Amino acid sequence: MNKKVIIIGAGPAGLSCAYKLAEAGCQVEVFEASPHVGGLARSFDLWGQRVDCGPHRFFSQDKIVNDFFKEVVGNDYTMIDRLTRIYYNNKYFFYPLKPLNAFANLGPFTVLQVLVSYFFQRLTPIKDPKTFEEWIVNRFGKKLFGIFFKNYTEKLWGIPCSKIDADWAAQRIKKLSLWEAVKNAFFGDKGKKHKTLVDQFAYPKGGTGMIYEKMKNFVKSKGGKVHQNAAVKKILKNENGNVNGIELSNGEKVFSEFVVSTMPLTLMVKGLDNVPKEVIAACDKLYYRNTILVYLEIDSTTLFPDNWIYVHDPKVQHGRITNFRNWGISLYGDKKTTILCLEYWCFEKDEVWTIDDKHLSELAKTEVKKIKLVPQDAVILNSFVMRLSRCYPVYEIGYEKHLEIIQEYVNSIPNILAIGRYGAFKYNNQDHSILMGLLAAREIITGKKQNLWDINTDTEYQETQEVLETGLDR
Ligand SMILES: Cc1cc2nc3c(=O)[nH]c(=O)nc-3n(C[C@H](O)[C@H](O)[C@H](O)COP(=O)(O)OP(=O)(O)OC[C@H]3O[C@@H](n4cnc5c(N)ncnc54)[C@H](O)[C@@H]3O)c2cc1C
Repeated sequence: MNKKVIIIGAGPAGLSCAYKLAEAGCQVEVFEASPHVGGLARSFDLWGQRVDCGPHRFFSQDKIVNDFFKEVVGNDYTMIDRLTRIYYNNKYFFYPLKPLNAFANLGPFTVLQVLVSYFFQRLTPIKDPKTFEEWIVNRFGKKLFGIFFKNYTEKLWGIPCSKIDADWAAQRIKKLSLWEAVKNAFFGDKGKKHKTLVDQFAYPKGGTGMIYEKMKNFVKSKGGKVHQNAAVKKILKNENGNVNGIELSNGEKVFSEFVVSTMPLTLMVKGLDNVPKEVIAACDKLYYRNTILVYLEIDSTTLFPDNWIYVHDPKVQHGRITNFRNWGISLYGDKKTTILCLEYWCFEKDEVWTIDDKHLSELAKTEVKKIKLVPQDAVILNSFVMRLSRCYPVYEIGYEKHLEIIQEYVNSIPNILAIGRYGAFKYNNQDHSILMGLLAAREIITGKKQNLWDINTDTEYQETQEVLETGLDR
């Protein structure tokens, strides 16, 4: 196995692929634009503690992925108890829902409205739901859609739920209905396969990014190369239309037999030579949403018990808040402060994306106190802002037909594979990107086509129990 493969991007997808190729004896070179590895799932030091880019909980029901996680991480992980809640209408709802808490927070009249609207919807379902709104209303009824789905989803995506493709709901909350959610809340999950994983998750001692640091070390130990601060400008094609290497942003060219790309799909395709007009037009129709992370260091160790909280309330702009104090002592050591991370989702044209760090920090400080997660008199010692571009591929209604045009074009080039979250325009979690990386390596090693574009929709992953836990995970 002496194939020469270039991989663009050292995130979970790129490094998993590099790992398996290096293990099989391929000549692997990874080119990563940023100074670090791990992509969106990296960890870094902040104020003497370790943090991730927002909450990063590893979870998979896929045996291949779980075995790989264990192979890479070994015993360097701890099991973390999971606690997450939803903040809505000045109240905190446990997520997954707990009946007494939900009943007390909503009140009997609203609960009655929820049930009436649910049963009405069951009797008069929308045929062939096409949008996120129709899909959810069919499953949960209009009332519950308004309470638990509308605000949060529109904060996240920045477009009305009636314009979001039903695909997104189908990928993330496939089998969950109100009945299943209530049944689970009342009767527990007896008989289901993955109870412990629902209540707990395995978390690497050095933060999620440790997984990818270890992968990088493995690749290097097998003779592979991982170049950081090495942005790829474009993928090169030869006269037969096959790709034969890359050009870096400094103009240097590197040649190979295969290229695996995890850079944004639309940018990758538009950078190729001689791309048909309709493919470029399809690329221009797809777009992404950005995230701003604002980290705050608070002079307290006992703020609230959750790993993270979904903030549905429209009174504040952030949509989720992570409390790193509750992710294990290996992150904070002997420090006596708490690091919180607030997520703001936006487009590049939105005002919040353009305002400076100082104002963003002020906004975050005001908002944590407004929703009473931090007491009014608490001392906020430090703040830090991070901007993440293109981290959410937007599933606007009709996106699929544009994506299909691009997929067909990429498939027509035999020695290029596009994988990963923005790399394949798939709303991946780490496990999906890892699986794509492993299968891309398998395709190169064996020469047998893998179903890479379908990962996240057709895999066994979407089991009810997993969904009950992760339906809201973004
Ligand atoms: C706030 C937030 C919270 C999340 N929470 C969870 C969670 O709880 N659980 C979970 O499993 N997943 C979570 N995810 C998703 C997870 O981070 C991603 O699924 C995963 O990182 C995707 O891996 P990837 O390799 O496909 O892409 P990325 O992580 O985006 O990696 C792509 C890499 O390519 C590099 N790159 C891009 N362009 C170029 C170029 N031109 N040249 C060279 N390199 C380039 C980038 O710098 C990056 O390092 C979360 C994501 C976010 C944003």
